[in-house]
Amino acid sequence: MNERLNVIGHDHVYAVGDITDVAEAKMAGWAMRHAEVVVENIKARLNGAEPTATYEPTPFPMMLLPLGTTGGVGQLPTPDGPSVASPAMVADYKGTDLFTGRFTGQFGPTA
Ligand SMILES: Cc1cc2nc3c(=O)[nH]c(=O)nc-3n(C[C@H](O)[C@H](O)[C@H](O)COP(=O)(O)OP(=O)(O)OC[C@H]3O[C@@H](n4cnc5c(N)ncnc54)[C@H](O)[C@@H]3O)c2cc1C
Repeated sequence: MNERLNVIGHDHVYAVGDITDVAEAKMAGWAMRHAEVVVENIKARLNGAEPTATYEPTPFPMMLLPLGTTGGVGQLPTPDGPSVASPAMVADYKGTDLFTGRFTGQFGPTA
């Protein structure tokens, strides 16, 4: 793959998620970031432009480990490097509803 997440030799074929050979852990969080890059590149192609969005793996691990709905531990990326996520941050970002609210908003409520 190249940095635009094209399969090398196939400018119209992209890969996202666990099937990629990006040097990083196989995680849903990264898969979502891959998708953002690929969406930008497909939109560019549809508009007759060259795709320019690129993906660069974060050089350190990211982890959010909720412990119940109010606690947890984690490490998040920041522009200055990895930073410890407080229990409140882990709960706020993930533990309270394990992303169900976020994905309901993204995909719409189901019957
Ligand atoms: C136990 C566990 C816990 C995890 N926890 C986390 C976490 O806390 N945070 C995090 O970021 N990531 C976590 N991950 C990783 C995360 O689940 C994956 O990185 C993510 O699901 C990858 O998404 P994907 O769409 O690339 O692949 P998948 O989610 O594996 O989707 C691939 C889909 O393709 C389907 N498929 C396979 N072969 C075919 C075929 N021939 N035809 C049609 N369909 C097919 C499969 O059935 C599947 O639905 C965890 C993984 C595991 C196993």
